[in-house]
Amino acid sequence: MNTTHQPSMLSSILTDLAPTHTTLVAVSKTKTVAQIMPLYEQGQRVFGENRVQALVSKFEEMPKDIEWHLIGHLQGNKVKYIAPFVSLIHSVDSLELLIEINKQAKKQERVIDCLLQFHVAQEETKFGFHQVEAEYLLQSDRYSTLSNIRIVGVMGMATFTDNKTQVRQEFQQLKQLFIFFKNAYFSDNQYFKEISMGMSDDYLLAIEEGSTMVRIGSLLFKN
Ligand SMILES: *Cc1c(COP(=O)(O)O)cnc(C)c1O
Repeated sequence: MNTTHQPSMLSSILTDLAPTHTTLVAVSKTKTVAQIMPLYEQGQRVFGENRVQALVSKFEEMPKDIEWHLIGHLQGNKVKYIAPFVSLIHSVDSLELLIEINKQAKKQERVIDCLLQFHVAQEETKFGFHQVEAEYLLQSDRYSTLSNIRIVGVMGMATFTDNKTQVRQEFQQLKQLFIFFKNAYFSDNQYFKEISMGMSDDYLLAIEEGSTMVRIGSLLFKN
């Protein structure tokens, strides 16, 4: 089928995101460089991977003006591989991990931007902080010494369900957490402004609920 005259999926998603200036993180996990390059050629510059090894190899193979985000669970012993180039780590879920990111960032003479991942879904398996745990982190003496990381917002994943009411409530919960932490811990910090929420199936809902950054994978590669 000749689809030359149809707008690409990328451009139709970007049209949805434009009114709210929401950032698109193109999730390229499981896709090859050859599959991803057409998005780059259409102008996309922010890409996300959930695995360290794939992030590193795609960084090495692809043009150097790409911003690479890590969106999946990160093990401390793998931070060193991404510290030289990663633009944003969405999935910080412990003080220990933040300490390790700080250590590796320092070695690279960089400051690495991070999001605190919150547990808002009903599934037990999803990673992330509860409010009190994140408060404990932010109040700790250890946190106050970390000068090579910068917390720029929050991230969350909704429950994998068709129940839109539930998904909306979970996005609202993440937005409330953002507002709480902004007021209580980051009120004089201009960098704390990101709410990373929304994927292929629920990004329109996420935008309505205040997402500043959507992480979209499968939809981008549909045709
Ligand atoms: C895979 C993944 C996404 C994108 O999911 P799609 O449903 O393919 O859009 C977003 N966030 C995280 C953390 C992921 O692992």
